[in-house]
Amino acid sequence: MKNSTQKIIEKYKHDKTRLMDILIAVQSELGYISAEAVAQIAQELNMSEVDVEQTISFYHFFSMKPTGKYSIYLNNSAVANMMGRAEVATTLEKMAGIKFGQVTSDGLIGLFETSCIGMNDQEPAAIINNKIFTKLTSFRAKEIIRDIKEGKEIEEMFSASFGDGANRDESVRSVVTNNIRKIGPVLDPNYKIGEAIKKIVTMKPEEVINTIKRSSVRGRGGAGFPTGLKWEFCRNAPGEKKYIFCNADEGEPGTFKDRVILTELPRLLFEGMVVAGYAVGASEGILYIRYEYKYLEDYLEKILEGARKKNYLGRNIMGHKGFDFDIRIQFGAGAYVCGEESALIESAEGKRGEPRDRPPFPVEKGYLEMPTVVNNVETLCSVVKIILHGAEWYHSFGTSESTGTKVLSISGDCRNPGVYEVEWGFSVNDILEMVGSAGKVQAVQVGGPSGSLIGPDEFNRILGYEDLATGGSLIIFGEQRDLLVDVVLNFMDFFIEESCGSCSTCRILPNVLKQKLLKILNARGVEQDIEDIVNWGKYLKASRCGLGQTAANPILTSIKNFRHLYESKIQSRKDYDTGFDLSRAVKEACEVTGRAPNI
Ligand code: SF4
Repeated sequence: MKNSTQKIIEKYKHDKTRLMDILIAVQSELGYISAEAVAQIAQELNMSEVDVEQTISFYHFFSMKPTGKYSIYLNNSAVANMMGRAEVATTLEKMAGIKFGQVTSDGLIGLFETSCIGMNDQEPAAIINNKIFTKLTSFRAKEIIRDIKEGKEIEEMFSASFGDGANRDESVRSVVTNNIRKIGPVLDPNYKIGEAIKKIVTMKPEEVINTIKRSSVRGRGGAGFPTGLKWEFCRNAPGEKKYIFCNADEGEPGTFKDRVILTELPRLLFEGMVVAGYAVGASEGILYIRYEYKYLEDYLEKILEGARKKNYLGRNIMGHKGFDFDIRIQFGAGAYVCGEESALIESAEGKRGEPRDRPPFPVEKGYLEMPTVVNNVETLCSVVKIILHGAEWYHSFGTSESTGTKVLSISGDCRNPGVYEVEWGFSVNDILEMVGSAGKVQAVQVGGPSGSLIGPDEFNRILGYEDLATGGSLIIFGEQRDLLVDVVLNFMDFFIEESCGSCSTCRILPNVLKQKLLKILNARGVEQDIEDIVNWGKYLKASRCGLGQTAANPILTSIKNFRHLYESKIQSRKDYDTGFDLSRAVKEACEVTGRAPNI
């Protein structure tokens, strides 16, 4: 009789490029990927076991050890901490009788930490068996563990919190609230689904590309590359088959706009992928979506099915002979670096998500060595509206260098966290006024940890490519926050955890900088330590991808804009200190060994 792993491998036709799907399915089925499963997968896919294991070891949500019948992944992002995560974590540990990183002896509960899960507007949040639990409190944590011990299904645990009337089919919204606070032209749901597809099939692909080029829309993931140009490069690149990827791997702490779009406007996104496919000459689209959003899978599959029925996807779309295009969903498995387009492609091919050296660029040689466009969720939604209303219409929003709008994910110390679509050209002050700050604002993190931590002196800066470009995450910190501990230290840990390890700079320097920060926080720092951080941080720019290149940003931008916080903690009368505290080291050693101090 075939075992479950065999059935999974057959479902994916023994295709090693679908290794991610195979591993995700095995992990879901068994709760971990056993050594036997690894051996079987390796044999059936004609790979070495080491190759299978190296993919497993790269991703946060894969494990070769059991993770518990109920695996609880509690988010440890800066905002989760600000909103009371510590209390929830303590209650979970106490009720489950284990520490984070452990599984109960009966295999029932596993407790794990995880970085931002895209729920910054409703923290503290956790993922339990691929379902999301938000706005956790100590009370709710107790209820959850009690329900688990009573053997309740996850869905029953939702019903418990929302009453018997909770619609289980709508679990994508029953626990996660999609806080759309301001709608602009892109998020406007009043448009006719399918109209953009009907329009483009009457145009030549080159005309579609020209319209997008004339609109000057740029990639909304943060890098801001002109979308029309990217499509043109891909269209002109030789290749038997071309691919459109939608990058829905939003892992930058503080960003959650893709989650909201995927839930509230998925048809708009899929239509954007079809438009891109037509323009580029691609026949396949792949929505690469972060594992944290696995709870959306069935919902999105249903919508794709509906689109096929309407012939928005499939063969000879909208009667246009030869225009064949379909979309499949590819989940990641927890790796921030997969938001980088070449790492995302590696991951979709079943490998470790390590960024590729470039050139060649994905538009020439991407997925399976074929020309590939990778566009952000918001970019693809924007192109539908541009096709419907025209490039000139799009130019009526934003500034001369930054046309259109930007969807922002705003969280932290504000009255109305959520998603806001604003025209480029808004200042940070405008944004603070719009979201209703909760008290005096000390700082705003613009663009997530890889962006900048700015203070009130810079709140008049303008969001746009000419000044403050952002992928859309804005986190607000009130004056009660300890910026160095609550923010900078948390973000440094994030980069250390997420480095893929390929470049020595990115593998080593963030840790070195963190040690310097800890030295300062422990009152052992001197002026030279601040200078060292500033000088050494520059070497990270030599890293291969954006993750390493920006990994020093939390500490560098905080020194630039909040140097007084560092200076208040260093020893003003000393110019040198090793940072080594002998009595503290002895005390720690005694605690570990159980021996009494002898000095
Ligand atoms: Fe990997 Fe960091 Fe190098 Fe990027 S910069 S390739 S994440 S080691």
